[in-house]
Amino acid sequence: MKVAIVGAAGRMGGRLIQAVQETPGMELTGAVERTGHPQLGADAGLLAAVGKLGIKITDDLVATMANADVLIDFTFPEVTLKNLEICAQQGKMVVIGSTGFTPEQKQQAAHFAETIPVVLAPNMSVGVNACFKLLKEAANILGDDFDVEIVELHHNKKKDSPSGTAVRMGEVVADTLGRDYNQVANYHREGMCGARTHEEIGMQTVRGGDIVGEHTVYFIGMGERIEISHRAMSRDMFARGAVRACQWLQDKDPGLYDMQDVLGLS
Ligand code: NAD
Repeated sequence: MKVAIVGAAGRMGGRLIQAVQETPGMELTGAVERTGHPQLGADAGLLAAVGKLGIKITDDLVATMANADVLIDFTFPEVTLKNLEICAQQGKMVVIGSTGFTPEQKQQAAHFAETIPVVLAPNMSVGVNACFKLLKEAANILGDDFDVEIVELHHNKKKDSPSGTAVRMGEVVADTLGRDYNQVANYHREGMCGARTHEEIGMQTVRGGDIVGEHTVYFIGMGERIEISHRAMSRDMFARGAVRACQWLQDKDPGLYDMQDVLGLS
């Protein structure tokens, strides 16, 4: 399977290059960065510290995809949507790790996925996806008797807040409890804002240092509390999840899938 990576010089890019190189049956055939990036022309393998690969970082996605079966895209929604259009024109599969999609942007992604198979997942880790399943179970058991609050921590360079994973966790709980996440998510409490409503799901964000990603969902009842937490210790498991998604996509029909589909948890 020939794989191209966009955002190749980013934090996830290096991990993805390594994960593809380590996977039997997968070959890195392209590494793409934004026009003007200082690493254009550099060897992708040297950049990812996996040794020289003879693949130069380029800003030409159209030419790159002519020699690839699948694109792994860990950039940003507005960039990803442009890349999706190119992949749809060329009939190539796409695995998207970019986070921060608005509902409208997600709809646009779904539109492109009408003609090509696409996995879009705000978190590619197996552990986080297991958490989504556990959260559904917990919300089903605990019902409306427990207040739900979500806290996430990330490094100080993260651009979107709250994280796509935290939002997905909120959506899973809200859907299970028969609530509309967009109506009940509460991102801000300050001053005399009054007691929390029963339905709301508090979303709190911490940013600092080099934290890879931590999420805790609190189910808080009278006299007891359940916490479901996930802590990412490195970015490698996100990259391995993306590679697994590429392999899973190989025989799939066009459509928009997520990691729950890839892992058989949906
Ligand atoms: P980063 O800023 O280190 O890397 C992003 C890279 O994309 C940069 O090198 C940047 O130059 C490049 N880029 C920007 N515009 C581009 C363009 N037009 N064409 C090509 N390349 C372009 O960020 P990161 O920490 O690697 O994260 C990237 C994305 O992946 C973020 O949205 C982040 O939230 C997400 N992420 C998702 C998961 C997951 O499991 N789904 C895990 C970690 C990070």
